[in-house]
Amino acid sequence: MEKSLAIIKPDAVARNLSGDIISMILDRDIQIVAMKMRHLTVEEAKGFYIVHQDRPFYNDLVEFMSSGPVITMVLAGENVIQSYRGLMGATNPKDAEPNTIRGKYAFSIDHNCVHGSDAEDTAQFEIEYLFDNEDLCL
Ligand code: UDP
Ligand code: MG
Repeated sequence: MEKSLAIIKPDAVARNLSGDIISMILDRDIQIVAMKMRHLTVEEAKGFYIVHQDRPFYNDLVEFMSSGPVITMVLAGENVIQSYRGLMGATNPKDAEPNTIRGKYAFSIDHNCVHGSDAEDTAQFEIEYLFDNEDLCL
């Protein structure tokens, strides 16, 4: 079974959108096999987004992701990486379909409510970064 790492970002947690976002995930027949609320440190956020370290938005992204609690989840299912990315919608909410999480809730590209892994190798890195193997209910 394929796995993906999902995060409900600080903006969405602060706006009490976690319940609806989790419902949208479960309604898609995506399984949640691990879940933890946590407040990432600056160092943890830097390491999580290390692939973006040379991008102009990196420092703002790290500051935002460590600005408040997030909900981290491991998702499982057939083709879950692509199906969850479809459910999230485009990175820029202006381009996101209205029935996607970002289309429904996000206000801007930098505060876009959710994260999702984009490939099998990044999913594995992100899951191992935030969870121990024994945390997964498979
Ligand atoms: N981001 C940003 N400005 C940009 C592009 C990205 O603030 O111009 C942030 C945004 O929060 C995005 C994250 O960086 O979700 C990671 O970017 P990526 O291109 O990987 O988008 P995603 O995979 O989240 O759709
Ligand atoms: Mg990405």
